[in-house]
Order: sequence, then C-alpha cells, then structure tokens
Amino acid sequence: MFDNYNRQINYLRISVTDRCNLRCFYCMPEKGVEMLQHSDILSFDEIAAITRIAVGMGVNKVRITGGEPLVRKGVVNLVKMLASIPGIDDLSMTSNGTLLSRYASQLKEAGLNRLNISLDTLDSEKYRKITRGGNLVEVLTGIKAARDAGLSPIKINCVVKKSSNEPDAKTIKAFCNDNGFQVRFIHQMSLTEGHFSVVEGGSGGDCSNCNRLRLTANGKLMPCLFNGIGFDVRKMGAEEAIRMALENKPACGSMNLSGEFFNIGG
Ligand code: SF4
Repeated sequence: MFDNYNRQINYLRISVTDRCNLRCFYCMPEKGVEMLQHSDILSFDEIAAITRIAVGMGVNKVRITGGEPLVRKGVVNLVKMLASIPGIDDLSMTSNGTLLSRYASQLKEAGLNRLNISLDTLDSEKYRKITRGGNLVEVLTGIKAARDAGLSPIKINCVVKKSSNEPDAKTIKAFCNDNGFQVRFIHQMSLTEGHFSVVEGGSGGDCSNCNRLRLTANGKLMPCLFNGIGFDVRKMGAEEAIRMALENKPACGSMNLSGEFFNIGG
C-alpha cells in the first residue's frame, strides 16, 4: 500500500502494553503515569485479526513494542499467533532486555526473528539513574540469552543526548563491535516540542522514506509518531482505520500533544 506521498507503507509497529518495569527519564514522566484500563487494551485475538488485515493490505514487517512488551502476560503466545500469519517476512521486538533471560528461547521458538534492545550505558550506576532503578546485569544477561537463543541480528538502541560521540555512546559502539551486534543511536526526542531526528544507523525519523504505521495498545491506528491523530480500530474496523491512517499520513512529523512514548511504542 502507498500513502499520498507515494511512500510504500509495509511496516506495522504494535504496542502491546503501556506498562514497563523501568522508568527511563526520557520516556516516563517523573510524576508517574496513568495506565490504560485492562478493558481498553486490545486482546491478542484482536491484535492478530488487525495484523492479518494489515498484511492483506501490504504490510510484511511487524514489530512488537510497548511500554515493555515482555511485561504483558502471555506475549510469547502473541508472537506465535503473529508468526503464523502468512506474508509477514520480518517479525521483531523492541525490549529493554531485563526479562529476556527468561523469555529469549521461548520467543525464538514462537517465531520471533530478531530484537532491538535498549542500552544507553555500560556504567551500572548511570544505568540505574537513567532507568530510575534498573539493574544493568539483568540486561547484559538478557542480551546473552537472546544471542544464545539465535535471535539475530541483535540491534542495540542507544539513546544519546546530542551525538554518538558522547562517551557512553562510544562505549556501546565498542561493545557492539566486540559482540557482533548492530548499534542504533537515537537522539533524545520530544513529542510535545516536535523535536526529533533520523536514527543513526536506522530508518526512524526519515520522514521522506517513512514506511510505518503504529497500533497503540488501546487500538488507535496512528499514521505518524509526531502527529497526534489516531483512528479507533474497535469503532471503525481495521480496514477502514488503516485506510484513514494512510489517507491522513503527513508528509513529515510535526508534534504530538496527545501521546507519550510509552503508550505509542516509540
Ligand atoms: S515522524 Fe512520522 S513521518 Fe516522520 S518518520 Fe516518524 S512516523 Fe514517519
């Protein structure tokens, strides 16, 4: 499928929860967040049905995001359901890695192809501060479990303030080189200020070549991260919501005053 700017849209990012076991300062507000009601969250059957329709319309790349997708109970079953949909060539997940040592081999067996794992520093004290209480050892153990399970490639999402020349970024790059991982440098963004840039080493933020739509955990089909509009799949039906999202996909992002990274899935 193509949007009004003749961009081929073949990538669906699915946020399966707004919850997370970390509180990264650039994602979760200090004051805490109001979580979605359970009844507002799409069921696995709903997500699979929407994805099946999206694949029928031209999607062949699907990413599972959150919040932290591994905190959603039974998420391995969802991976199995999505992996069984013919036409998905690439099924991936973005995770903070803290629970991967428990789930990596199950995810692989369920049909997950690959992972992006968030890691901004190898300094355990800095990591604890950035994530407001996270344990670096858990992530490193999780990354090892993902590699041992055969999930590949492993990409490391490293958030930087301004540049990939920052000391922590250089350390992460060396860590990736030493371990055969790929690194993505994501410059800190602000939805409400409309502040974003192209992901170094990735395709996010490259509006002229944007190929993605997003499905939020509460069933909003969003044409763009940096634009507040979303179409309610439960009210409109998946096909109509996808059509409207395509029809209303902006040439480029501006700002998003209604959403937060943790409930859109970045
Ligand atoms: S800001 Fe919007 S249009 Fe630009 S790359 Fe992100 S999702 Fe695509």
